[in-house]
Amino acid sequence: MADFDLDRRQLMGVLALGAVAGAVGLPEVAFAQGRGSGPSSSAIQAALDNAYGKYRGLNEGKNADYIPALAEVPSNFFGIAIVTGDGTVYQAGDSKQEFSIQSVSKPITAALVMQESGSKLIEDSVGVDATGQVFNSITAVEQYRGKEMNPLVNPGAIATVGNVKGTPDEVWNKIIGIHSDMAGRQLQVNQPVYQSEAATNQRNRAIGALMSAYERFPSDPAVAVDLYTRQCSINVNAVDLATMAATLAFGGRNPVTKKQVLDPSIVPGVLAIMATAGMYDDSGKWAFHTGGVPAKSGVGGGILAVVPGKFGIGTFAPPLDDAGNSVRGQKAIIDIVNELKANPYAQFG
Ligand code: GLN
Repeated sequence: MADFDLDRRQLMGVLALGAVAGAVGLPEVAFAQGRGSGPSSSAIQAALDNAYGKYRGLNEGKNADYIPALAEVPSNFFGIAIVTGDGTVYQAGDSKQEFSIQSVSKPITAALVMQESGSKLIEDSVGVDATGQVFNSITAVEQYRGKEMNPLVNPGAIATVGNVKGTPDEVWNKIIGIHSDMAGRQLQVNQPVYQSEAATNQRNRAIGALMSAYERFPSDPAVAVDLYTRQCSINVNAVDLATMAATLAFGGRNPVTKKQVLDPSIVPGVLAIMATAGMYDDSGKWAFHTGGVPAKSGVGGGILAVVPGKFGIGTFAPPLDDAGNSVRGQKAIIDIVNELKANPYAQFG
Protein backbone atom coordinates (compact mmCIF):
# COMPACT_ATOMS: atom_id res chain seq x y z
CA MET A 1 0.00 0.00 0.00
CA ALA A 2 3.06 2.20 -0.11
CA ASP A 3 1.58 4.14 -3.03
CA PHE A 4 -1.08 5.55 -0.75
CA ASP A 5 1.19 6.58 2.08
CA LEU A 6 1.35 10.28 2.73
CA ASP A 7 4.65 11.52 3.91
CA ARG A 8 4.68 13.76 6.96
CA ARG A 9 5.01 17.06 5.14
CA GLN A 10 2.09 16.22 2.85
CA LEU A 11 -0.03 15.25 5.83
CA MET A 12 0.50 18.64 7.48
CA GLY A 13 -0.78 20.37 4.37
CA VAL A 14 -3.84 18.12 4.20
CA LEU A 15 -4.70 18.84 7.84
CA ALA A 16 -4.26 22.58 7.30
CA LEU A 17 -6.64 22.54 4.34
CA GLY A 18 -9.19 20.65 6.43
CA ALA A 19 -9.08 23.18 9.25
CA VAL A 20 -9.54 26.16 6.96
CA ALA A 21 -12.21 24.52 4.82
CA GLY A 22 -13.97 22.91 7.77
CA ALA A 23 -13.61 19.36 6.45
CA VAL A 24 -11.87 18.09 9.57
CA GLY A 25 -11.48 19.51 13.06
CA LEU A 26 -8.24 20.56 14.69
CA PRO A 27 -6.32 17.41 15.51
CA GLU A 28 -6.34 16.54 19.18
CA VAL A 29 -2.57 16.37 19.09
CA ALA A 30 -2.30 20.09 18.28
CA PHE A 31 0.14 21.76 20.63
CA ALA A 32 0.56 18.42 22.39
CA GLN A 33 3.94 19.41 23.72
CA GLY A 34 2.04 21.64 26.11
CA ARG A 35 2.66 24.78 28.07
CA GLY A 36 6.16 25.83 28.86
CA SER A 37 7.93 22.86 27.27
CA GLY A 38 9.52 24.67 24.41
CA PRO A 39 12.70 24.48 22.38
CA SER A 40 16.04 25.34 24.02
CA SER A 41 17.41 28.90 24.03
CA SER A 42 20.19 28.01 21.64
CA ALA A 43 17.73 26.37 19.23
CA ILE A 44 15.53 29.49 19.27
CA GLN A 45 18.44 31.87 18.65
CA ALA A 46 19.76 29.60 15.90
CA ALA A 47 16.37 29.45 14.15
CA LEU A 48 16.09 33.21 14.31
CA ASP A 49 19.65 33.76 13.03
CA ASN A 50 19.14 31.22 10.24
CA ALA A 51 15.96 32.93 9.02
CA TYR A 52 17.57 36.35 9.26
CA GLY A 53 20.65 35.24 7.31
CA LYS A 54 18.63 33.41 4.68
CA TYR A 55 16.18 36.19 3.83
CA ARG A 56 18.13 39.33 4.66
CA GLY A 57 19.11 39.90 1.03
CA LEU A 58 15.77 38.86 -0.48
CA ASN A 59 14.48 41.66 -2.62
CA GLU A 60 10.88 40.67 -3.42
CA GLY A 61 7.67 42.61 -2.91
CA LYS A 62 6.95 46.30 -2.65
CA ASN A 63 6.23 48.76 0.16
CA ALA A 64 2.58 49.75 0.49
CA ASP A 65 2.18 53.12 -1.23
CA TYR A 66 -1.56 53.85 -0.98
CA ILE A 67 -0.61 55.47 2.33
CA PRO A 68 2.09 57.84 0.98
CA ALA A 69 4.23 57.84 4.16
CA LEU A 70 4.66 54.05 4.00
CA ALA A 71 6.28 54.24 0.56
CA GLU A 72 9.11 56.30 2.10
CA VAL A 73 10.14 53.71 4.69
CA PRO A 74 13.49 52.11 3.65
CA SER A 75 12.62 48.73 2.11
CA ASN A 76 15.72 46.95 3.39
CA PHE A 77 14.79 47.05 7.08
CA PHE A 78 14.53 43.50 8.44
CA GLY A 79 14.04 42.62 12.08
CA ILE A 80 12.90 39.48 13.88
CA ALA A 81 12.19 38.87 17.58
CA ILE A 82 10.91 35.99 19.68
CA VAL A 83 9.65 36.21 23.27
CA THR A 84 9.24 33.04 25.35
CA GLY A 85 7.14 32.29 28.43
CA ASP A 86 9.92 33.16 30.86
CA GLY A 87 10.13 36.63 29.31
CA THR A 88 13.39 36.03 27.41
CA VAL A 89 13.71 38.20 24.30
CA TYR A 90 15.61 36.86 21.27
CA GLN A 91 16.44 39.26 18.44
CA ALA A 92 18.06 39.57 15.03
CA GLY A 93 18.55 42.53 12.68
CA ASP A 94 16.49 45.72 12.94
CA SER A 95 14.41 44.41 15.83
CA LYS A 96 14.27 47.82 17.55
CA GLN A 97 13.41 49.82 14.43
CA GLU A 98 10.00 51.45 14.86
CA PHE A 99 7.26 51.31 12.23
CA SER A 100 3.48 51.79 12.19
CA ILE A 101 1.56 48.79 13.48
CA GLN A 102 -1.26 49.09 10.89
CA SER A 103 -3.53 46.03 10.82
CA VAL A 104 -1.58 44.17 13.48
CA SER A 105 -3.58 46.41 15.86
CA LYS A 106 -6.85 44.80 14.78
CA PRO A 107 -6.80 41.67 16.99
CA ILE A 108 -5.70 43.79 19.96
CA THR A 109 -8.71 46.10 19.73
CA ALA A 110 -10.94 43.06 19.09
CA ALA A 111 -9.60 41.64 22.37
CA LEU A 112 -10.43 44.94 24.07
CA VAL A 113 -14.05 44.79 22.90
CA MET A 114 -14.38 41.11 23.77
CA GLN A 115 -13.03 41.87 27.24
CA GLU A 116 -15.27 44.89 27.73
CA SER A 117 -18.52 43.68 26.18
CA GLY A 118 -18.16 39.92 25.78
CA SER A 119 -17.08 37.79 22.83
CA LYS A 120 -20.68 37.47 21.69
CA LEU A 121 -20.83 41.12 20.68
CA ILE A 122 -18.00 40.56 18.21
CA GLU A 123 -19.50 37.30 16.98
CA ASP A 124 -22.97 38.79 16.50
CA SER A 125 -22.34 42.34 15.35
CA VAL A 126 -19.02 42.22 13.51
CA GLY A 127 -18.73 38.54 12.68
CA VAL A 128 -15.89 36.04 12.90
CA ASP A 129 -15.84 34.37 9.50
CA ALA A 130 -13.15 35.10 6.93
CA THR A 131 -14.50 37.19 4.06
CA GLY A 132 -12.14 35.71 1.45
CA GLN A 133 -11.80 39.24 0.07
CA VAL A 134 -9.00 41.80 0.29
CA PHE A 135 -8.78 43.73 3.54
CA ASN A 136 -10.47 46.89 2.27
CA SER A 137 -13.19 45.21 0.23
CA ILE A 138 -16.49 47.04 -0.12
CA THR A 139 -17.95 44.11 -2.07
CA ALA A 140 -17.73 41.97 1.08
CA VAL A 141 -19.65 44.59 3.10
CA GLU A 142 -22.41 44.73 0.53
CA GLN A 143 -22.58 40.97 0.10
CA TYR A 144 -23.27 40.38 3.80
CA ARG A 145 -24.84 43.74 4.74
CA GLY A 146 -21.85 44.25 7.04
CA LYS A 147 -22.70 41.18 9.09
CA GLU A 148 -20.22 38.50 8.17
CA MET A 149 -17.10 40.63 8.39
CA ASN A 150 -14.47 39.90 10.99
CA PRO A 151 -12.38 42.25 13.15
CA LEU A 152 -9.26 41.71 11.03
CA VAL A 153 -10.46 43.30 7.78
CA ASN A 154 -11.15 47.02 7.57
CA PRO A 155 -14.99 46.93 7.75
CA GLY A 156 -14.93 44.71 10.83
CA ALA A 157 -11.98 46.57 12.35
CA ILE A 158 -13.68 49.96 12.02
CA ALA A 159 -16.87 48.47 13.51
CA THR A 160 -14.77 46.99 16.32
CA VAL A 161 -13.34 50.41 17.20
CA GLY A 162 -16.89 51.80 16.97
CA ASN A 163 -17.98 49.28 19.61
CA VAL A 164 -15.44 50.39 22.26
CA LYS A 165 -17.43 52.21 24.93
CA GLY A 166 -16.88 55.84 25.93
CA THR A 167 -16.14 59.33 24.63
CA PRO A 168 -13.57 59.54 21.81
CA ASP A 169 -10.85 60.39 24.37
CA GLU A 170 -11.83 57.48 26.58
CA VAL A 171 -11.89 55.10 23.62
CA TRP A 172 -8.46 56.28 22.52
CA ASN A 173 -7.01 55.88 26.02
CA LYS A 174 -8.31 52.32 26.16
CA ILE A 175 -6.86 51.51 22.72
CA ILE A 176 -3.40 52.95 23.33
CA GLY A 177 -3.51 51.50 26.86
CA ILE A 178 -4.10 47.91 25.82
CA HIS A 179 -1.53 48.09 23.02
CA SER A 180 1.04 49.48 25.48
CA ASP A 181 0.25 46.85 28.12
CA MET A 182 0.67 44.09 25.58
CA ALA A 183 3.98 45.53 24.35
CA GLY A 184 5.13 46.19 27.91
CA ARG A 185 6.01 49.83 27.28
CA GLN A 186 4.21 53.11 26.57
CA LEU A 187 3.61 53.31 22.82
CA GLN A 188 3.15 56.51 20.77
CA VAL A 189 1.45 57.42 17.50
CA ASN A 190 3.62 57.98 14.42
CA GLN A 191 2.25 61.41 13.54
CA PRO A 192 3.49 61.62 9.91
CA VAL A 193 1.90 58.22 9.14
CA TYR A 194 -1.33 59.25 10.88
CA GLN A 195 -1.50 62.54 8.93
CA SER A 196 -0.68 60.76 5.68
CA GLU A 197 -3.39 58.13 6.10
CA ALA A 198 -5.97 60.58 7.47
CA ALA A 199 -5.54 62.67 4.31
CA THR A 200 -5.99 59.71 1.96
CA ASN A 201 -8.44 57.33 3.69
CA GLN A 202 -11.60 58.13 1.72
CA ARG A 203 -12.14 54.44 1.10
CA ASN A 204 -12.10 53.62 4.82
CA ARG A 205 -14.49 56.50 5.45
CA ALA A 206 -16.86 54.97 2.91
CA ILE A 207 -16.51 51.55 4.55
CA GLY A 208 -17.17 53.09 7.99
CA ALA A 209 -20.26 54.86 6.70
CA LEU A 210 -21.59 51.63 5.17
CA MET A 211 -20.96 49.62 8.33
CA SER A 212 -22.74 52.33 10.32
CA ALA A 213 -25.66 52.25 7.86
CA TYR A 214 -25.91 48.51 8.52
CA GLU A 215 -25.94 49.33 12.25
CA ARG A 216 -22.83 47.32 13.07
CA PHE A 217 -21.61 49.83 15.69
CA PRO A 218 -23.22 52.60 17.74
CA SER A 219 -20.68 55.46 17.49
CA ASP A 220 -20.28 58.25 14.91
CA PRO A 221 -18.62 56.61 11.86
CA ALA A 222 -16.29 59.57 11.22
CA VAL A 223 -15.02 59.32 14.79
CA ALA A 224 -14.63 55.54 14.55
CA VAL A 225 -12.61 55.83 11.33
CA ASP A 226 -10.40 58.55 12.82
CA LEU A 227 -9.68 56.47 15.93
CA TYR A 228 -9.06 53.43 13.73
CA THR A 229 -6.58 55.45 11.64
CA ARG A 230 -4.76 56.59 14.79
CA GLN A 231 -4.69 53.04 16.07
CA CYS A 232 -3.09 51.86 12.80
CA SER A 233 -0.41 54.57 13.20
CA ILE A 234 0.87 53.40 16.59
CA ASN A 235 4.64 52.91 16.40
CA VAL A 236 6.01 49.52 17.39
CA ASN A 237 9.15 47.47 16.77
CA ALA A 238 9.59 43.72 16.20
CA VAL A 239 10.27 43.15 19.92
CA ASP A 240 6.96 44.86 20.76
CA LEU A 241 5.12 42.58 18.33
CA ALA A 242 6.85 39.50 19.75
CA THR A 243 5.89 40.59 23.27
CA MET A 244 2.28 41.14 22.21
CA ALA A 245 2.32 37.72 20.52
CA ALA A 246 3.78 36.12 23.65
CA THR A 247 1.05 37.77 25.75
CA LEU A 248 -1.48 35.98 23.53
CA ALA A 249 0.59 32.77 23.65
CA PHE A 250 0.40 32.69 27.44
CA GLY A 251 -3.26 33.32 28.17
CA GLY A 252 -3.18 37.11 28.08
CA ARG A 253 -0.33 37.51 30.57
CA ASN A 254 2.61 39.56 29.35
CA PRO A 255 5.58 37.29 30.16
CA VAL A 256 8.02 40.22 30.30
CA THR A 257 6.09 42.56 32.64
CA LYS A 258 4.08 39.68 34.22
CA LYS A 259 0.93 41.81 33.93
CA GLN A 260 -2.32 39.95 33.20
CA VAL A 261 -3.51 42.15 30.32
CA LEU A 262 -6.35 40.04 28.93
CA ASP A 263 -8.89 37.74 30.51
CA PRO A 264 -7.61 34.26 29.54
CA SER A 265 -11.12 33.22 28.50
CA ILE A 266 -11.12 35.54 25.45
CA VAL A 267 -7.70 34.53 24.13
CA PRO A 268 -8.72 31.35 22.24
CA GLY A 269 -11.35 33.31 20.29
CA VAL A 270 -8.88 36.04 19.35
CA LEU A 271 -6.39 33.41 18.17
CA ALA A 272 -9.06 31.58 16.19
CA ILE A 273 -9.94 34.73 14.25
CA MET A 274 -6.24 35.30 13.58
CA ALA A 275 -5.83 31.71 12.38
CA THR A 276 -8.69 32.01 9.89
CA ALA A 277 -8.34 35.63 8.70
CA GLY A 278 -5.07 37.12 9.99
CA MET A 279 -3.25 36.91 6.67
CA TYR A 280 -6.24 38.15 4.67
CA ASP A 281 -7.16 36.12 1.63
CA ASP A 282 -3.83 34.28 1.88
CA SER A 283 -4.80 32.78 5.25
CA GLY A 284 -5.23 29.38 3.59
CA LYS A 285 -1.72 29.48 2.15
CA TRP A 286 -0.44 30.55 5.55
CA ALA A 287 -2.19 27.58 7.20
CA PHE A 288 -0.73 25.29 4.58
CA HIS A 289 2.81 26.35 5.44
CA THR A 290 2.61 26.88 9.21
CA GLY A 291 -0.24 24.61 10.33
CA GLY A 292 -2.46 27.62 10.93
CA VAL A 293 -0.25 29.41 13.45
CA PRO A 294 -2.40 32.42 14.46
CA ALA A 295 -0.84 35.50 12.91
CA LYS A 296 -1.65 39.06 11.90
CA SER A 297 0.09 41.17 9.29
CA GLY A 298 0.03 44.91 8.65
CA VAL A 299 0.78 47.00 5.57
CA GLY A 300 3.56 48.73 7.54
CA GLY A 301 5.51 45.46 7.11
CA GLY A 302 4.93 43.94 10.54
CA ILE A 303 3.72 40.43 11.37
CA LEU A 304 2.81 39.05 14.80
CA ALA A 305 2.62 35.24 15.12
CA VAL A 306 1.56 33.21 18.14
CA VAL A 307 2.62 29.68 19.03
CA PRO A 308 0.31 29.03 22.00
CA GLY A 309 2.08 27.92 25.15
CA LYS A 310 5.51 28.22 23.51
CA PHE A 311 6.47 31.68 22.19
CA GLY A 312 5.51 34.80 20.26
CA ILE A 313 7.22 36.02 17.09
CA GLY A 314 7.38 39.57 15.71
CA THR A 315 8.88 40.53 12.34
CA PHE A 316 9.38 43.72 10.39
CA ALA A 317 10.23 43.97 6.67
CA PRO A 318 8.30 46.58 4.64
CA PRO A 319 7.96 45.04 1.14
CA LEU A 320 4.62 43.25 0.75
CA ASP A 321 3.24 40.61 -1.59
CA ASP A 322 0.00 41.01 -3.55
CA ALA A 323 -2.13 40.01 -0.56
CA GLY A 324 -0.55 42.75 1.57
CA ASN A 325 1.66 40.52 3.72
CA SER A 326 5.38 41.13 4.35
CA VAL A 327 7.39 38.83 2.07
CA ARG A 328 10.46 38.34 4.27
CA GLY A 329 8.39 38.28 7.47
CA GLN A 330 6.25 35.41 6.21
CA LYS A 331 9.24 33.39 5.02
CA ALA A 332 11.11 33.93 8.29
CA ILE A 333 8.13 32.86 10.43
CA ILE A 334 7.40 29.80 8.28
CA ASP A 335 11.04 28.66 8.65
CA ILE A 336 11.15 29.37 12.39
CA VAL A 337 7.86 27.57 13.08
CA ASN A 338 8.98 24.51 11.17
CA GLU A 339 12.58 24.51 12.44
CA LEU A 340 11.36 24.72 16.05
CA LYS A 341 8.77 22.01 15.38
CA ALA A 342 5.95 24.36 16.32
CA ASN A 343 3.61 23.49 13.46
CA PRO A 344 0.56 22.20 15.38
CA TYR A 345 -0.15 19.63 12.67
CA ALA A 346 3.33 18.19 12.95
CA GLN A 347 3.06 16.95 16.54
CA PHE A 348 3.37 13.24 15.90
CA GLY A 349 4.70 12.29 19.31
N1 GLN B 1 -4.50 51.47 8.07
C1 GLN B 1 -4.52 50.53 7.00
C2 GLN B 1 -5.80 50.65 6.19
O1 GLN B 1 -6.82 50.84 6.75
C3 GLN B 1 -4.36 49.15 7.55
C4 GLN B 1 -4.42 48.08 6.50
C5 GLN B 1 -3.51 46.93 6.71
O2 GLN B 1 -2.54 46.95 7.45
N2 GLN B 1 -3.79 45.89 5.97
O3 GLN B 1 -5.79 50.58 5.00
